[in-house]
Amino acid sequence: MRSPAERRLAYQVELARGRRLAAGIPADETWSKRLRQRWPMRLMCSMECGPGWADLVEALNELIDVEATGEFRFTQIKEKFGQLRAYWHGVDEHGRIEELVEAAEEVSASMCETCSGDAKVWQTQGGPGFGYVHVACDEHARPGSAIVRVKTEKIRTPIGNFRANKVEDDT
Ligand SMILES: [Zn+2]
Repeated sequence: MRSPAERRLAYQVELARGRRLAAGIPADETWSKRLRQRWPMRLMCSMECGPGWADLVEALNELIDVEATGEFRFTQIKEKFGQLRAYWHGVDEHGRIEELVEAAEEVSASMCETCSGDAKVWQTQGGPGFGYVHVACDEHARPGSAIVRVKTEKIRTPIGNFRANKVEDDT
């Protein structure tokens, strides 16, 4: 069940994807450079995730354009435990930006980080990089991975929100 913020974001993702496809722009590794040109101040940070999440990050920023009432910038955008993680600094008067950021993190968990297709969370079961958790469609899952469930607990503190992740057996 998706929250109103997640539904709003998912709709914006479809708009961003439609516009990108209409403009003939591929979802490849140039995505972060393209988005940085559009939001040079806000995205002056490391952006380390796959091109499958380009439309998601773009949609998030388009909604932040609507909600931001003051200075706002990301300090880091990355992948962790098969989910987008976006850290930020700035004004969020009504808490709506944090709601959108959390929605983006939630939506990313079912979006392939490589191709943006419908995805599940996988964990590699052996070999080098054992235990690597990633979100992927069937085609882009690492060889020898199994589907897992990641339990995320959010810990709110006065200096920011933290997350504790635990991989559970999919039983
Ligand atoms: Zn994929």
